[in-house]
Amino acid sequence: MVQLRRQMLCCGNFLNQLQSNVRWSSSLQIRDKKVIQPERSFKYADLSVRLAGLEQLQPKPDVSALSFGKYFTDHMLKIFYHEALGGWQMPEITPFESLVLHPASKVLHYAIELFEGFKAYRGIDGKIRIFRPELNMERMNNSASRTGLPTFIGEELIKCCCRLISIDQEWVPHSIASSLYIRPTLIGIDPTLGVASSESALLYIILSPVGSYFKKKEQATGLSLLADPQYTRAWPGGCGNYKVGSNYGPTVYVQREATERGLQQVLWLYGEDNEVTEAGTMNIFMFCINDEGEKELITPPLSNRLILPGVTRNSILALAREWNQFKVSERKFCMSEVCQLLSENRLLELFGVGTACIISPISYIEFVGRPLHIPTMKQTNPVYKMFLKHLSDIQYGIIPDHPWAIPIE
Ligand SMILES: *Cc1c(COP(=O)(O)O)cnc(C)c1O
Repeated sequence: MVQLRRQMLCCGNFLNQLQSNVRWSSSLQIRDKKVIQPERSFKYADLSVRLAGLEQLQPKPDVSALSFGKYFTDHMLKIFYHEALGGWQMPEITPFESLVLHPASKVLHYAIELFEGFKAYRGIDGKIRIFRPELNMERMNNSASRTGLPTFIGEELIKCCCRLISIDQEWVPHSIASSLYIRPTLIGIDPTLGVASSESALLYIILSPVGSYFKKKEQATGLSLLADPQYTRAWPGGCGNYKVGSNYGPTVYVQREATERGLQQVLWLYGEDNEVTEAGTMNIFMFCINDEGEKELITPPLSNRLILPGVTRNSILALAREWNQFKVSERKFCMSEVCQLLSENRLLELFGVGTACIISPISYIEFVGRPLHIPTMKQTNPVYKMFLKHLSDIQYGIIPDHPWAIPIE
């Protein structure tokens, strides 16, 4: 009974939060043809739980040893979809375990899969909060639709996810430098080799306690990037704006090339004019003094669909517009503009943003043999630090009751 009341509180709270989110715009405004409103979905009310036995529980690693995505919690959520059985099956929480897949499963041949990433944070008041999860659900449904995988009601998955986190709550690090990374994944598992949309699928969520995405040294000095116009990660009409696995596998080769040259990440360019799109798996921001002599924060637009519509990107834009301290633009910028601003000492900061790293300052770019030293780390009151502090104050409950941070219990 107590358990039940708690759950009801959790969901009521969630709906209230969702409503107050409207003020902050609870959509990534991905310009898809239609908003996805699935007719069929699994339901939180059907969730069943099978707890791990004591002998199955894993020891929790020390927060200092976390790094990124190396450890997983004791439980996972699974939801099967079978067209032949009427679509979505009942959600289940089970002990963390390996999957058994037919060798012909579409995910293994044609990368029919997508994923998401968001985090749960243990606040200074001990409460666990998740950050704007409805935006991840919106993006996940968009990716599903683009990949021929079934869609669902986002709210139902958030509720199942909250229950999973609540069961594994001791895995949410007691630290404001760490968090619990939530990785929903949806894969096509039909046992047939045809390239076609999936009649069988598996949606699952695994949880991983994480520290910082980049190493200490990289954080202290800023990131170094390889900008090589030979490579591109996305193109108009492609799917760079969806979080589908097939976007990431082929980047590993270019990442290795960067590493071999002593650089940490890839700066992804597009087209003849070397348009700047993303840094590694992060959205990118430039802070500069524009031609009118004003300070301006610029990030590439979503309109040409070359970039992933990031939740962090969206949040930084919303904060910057609310603060109203400098001009804020979503517009295309190219390497020629970066070089020009730099040569006139008008480029102030470059930084990458995303859930995994939050915000990473960029200090160096190697562009067709040219070394570009970016003065991000040399600013006295850099804007990237203001955003980083504000976001982390929201996530860890230091700014109380913010509509973006949803307590799970
Ligand atoms: C996930 C991702 C981002 C960041 O998105 P967030 O929602 O802020 O985590 C940016 N770029 C790429 C390519 C990504 O995969």
